[in-house]
Amino acid sequence: MLKIGDTIGIIGGGQLGRMLAMAAAKLGFKTIILDPQENSPAFACAHDHILAAYDDIAALQRLSDKCDIITYEFENVPVEALKKANLKIPIHPNAKALETSQDRLVEKNFFHDLGIKTAPFFDIKKPEELGDALTSVGQKGILKTRRMGYDGKGQVRVSVEDTASLKVAHELINSFPCILEGFVPFLREVSIIAARNTHGDIACYSPAENVHKDGILHTSTLPAKISEEEHAKANEIAHKTLNALNYVGVIGIEFFVLEDGSLLVNEFAPRVHNSGHWTEAACIVSQFEQHIRAITSLPLGNPLHHSNCIMENLIGDDIEKVPEILEQSNTMLHLYGKREARQGRKMGHFTKTTSKPAK
Ligand code: AMP
Repeated sequence: MLKIGDTIGIIGGGQLGRMLAMAAAKLGFKTIILDPQENSPAFACAHDHILAAYDDIAALQRLSDKCDIITYEFENVPVEALKKANLKIPIHPNAKALETSQDRLVEKNFFHDLGIKTAPFFDIKKPEELGDALTSVGQKGILKTRRMGYDGKGQVRVSVEDTASLKVAHELINSFPCILEGFVPFLREVSIIAARNTHGDIACYSPAENVHKDGILHTSTLPAKISEEEHAKANEIAHKTLNALNYVGVIGIEFFVLEDGSLLVNEFAPRVHNSGHWTEAACIVSQFEQHIRAITSLPLGNPLHHSNCIMENLIGDDIEKVPEILEQSNTMLHLYGKREARQGRKMGHFTKTTSKPAK
């Protein structure tokens, strides 16, 4: 167990690292951030930082020398560099969680082996393999790069009838190893944020219902319009996933909900997740504090939400809505301190809470 005043190293200095640093400070810990970008949002909220590439082995070792434990804010942390750095302190979540989430094919096979349903998928190494795979999934699907895809990047919708989409798909396959997923006619998208600590205790927040715009999360709403059975199924999948990975920390798991009530896992993120930002306004213990509790061997906090809510991201020029948001009661605003509002850049979020009807 970490002691008050001990130091947590965080790889990645974006908004998630920043919110983790704030939560760590609240529990009496110091943080040091590693990020290659000057003026990273997390630097302003941490005790110290190291300006270096994520795969800079000497920098990773320096971080480890100054810290008692290491965590990260993004899933593309280079595992090879971590292994080569041979760090003497724990890294949570572990390398298996990173390796599984970094490759969509490995990730899909992981769920498949656990008996957890996903969209049908095919490994696509060369363009000639696309035709048969498309036939198997009903003539249309989504081609995704196995690695480095996020916020809808590195993927293309492809249909046998649309020759332009086939051309784009072939170019993608020629550039990167890909998978083809069947197109899921989902009713809604939900995600569950859950945590497991070093003692193996697990806590799951209620699933949020997510709406994406241009491939980026737009809103997360509580409660999600799902049945108790669907909620229980999401919880069960979270437990199975966390235990199978011997996971420590917060995880975000995204699902498609189908008309017949079945849940398909889309993907998981081995970190705090954008669709869990609402926990900061609607729960006593946010996902950020929960992650810090989990990795420092503290007891997990109560994941029940005291209010219903809707969280909305502020992307690019949305930042201009801030004065209007500040006028609203029951609304918590959180800005990430980014000076320049570029298109598609996450600038902040706000969560409007409403009372939860008594059962
Ligand atoms: P991803 O990068 O895998 O999270 O995908 C981004 C978004 O694309 C998801 O949140 C869905 O809205 C949509 N999407 C991804 N995969 C599929 C699929 N197999 N079928 C239908 N929609 C999908």
